[in-house]
Amino acid sequence: MFEKERDKYLNKHGFEKMHLKAVLFDMDGVLFDSMKNHAEAWSKAMTQMGFHFPKSEAYMHEGRTGTGTINIVTQRELKRDATEEEKEQIYKIKSDYFNSLPKAEPMPGALELLEKLKVDQITPILVTGSAQKSLIGRLNQHFPNTFVPELMVTAFDVKYGKPNPEPYLIGKRKGNLELNEGIVVENAPLGIESSSKAGFFTVAVNTGPLDNKILLDAGADLLFPSMQELANHWSELRKCLQQP
Ligand code: CA
Repeated sequence: MFEKERDKYLNKHGFEKMHLKAVLFDMDGVLFDSMKNHAEAWSKAMTQMGFHFPKSEAYMHEGRTGTGTINIVTQRELKRDATEEEKEQIYKIKSDYFNSLPKAEPMPGALELLEKLKVDQITPILVTGSAQKSLIGRLNQHFPNTFVPELMVTAFDVKYGKPNPEPYLIGKRKGNLELNEGIVVENAPLGIESSSKAGFFTVAVNTGPLDNKILLDAGADLLFPSMQELANHWSELRKCLQQP
């Protein structure tokens, strides 16, 4: 069912076959339904600091580190980089707003998918731009015995962050993987760009308000309308990506 997308990827990257061993997961908008909260917190914090930042903009920056987003806004509106003090202050205001909102729920379908991975002995790896320690801690609460610290990439591991391929290349190294041994699950254009540039087969899940076209144009090899749909099709996809 997914042979066409797989073979297109293999041809493009010069691999003969896929040997799926691991799935690299983004966190916000993939494992947790947290993007609405992030969008609201970013918009409130930026507005409070005198910047123009509608909620919709947050979805286009999704995946960047917080300081990366802040820099883009000061460049746009003040024609200069943000100072260290500004970065710290704005990120703190944003984090305080975020933490004051009701906790985001796990994304429907995420637990089911991760349980299927366990049965299939496929390794899950986390690759997030988040520096929200609280949310990372909640991974173990909602997805127990699933992610291990050695196989997590967070804002603390990276220098550039998404859309640079760096985070997924660190995930590749931590997982000791070849590119045709892993796939990425992402919901945001910059995350998809990062994964695609790193060279991974990239599965987009459109869990937010953006058009499918934006995710496909960013470099997604395959797209599902939700995590539940990906979970529903997991068995077929795995078989397609574990070539004898
Ligand atoms: Ca995301």
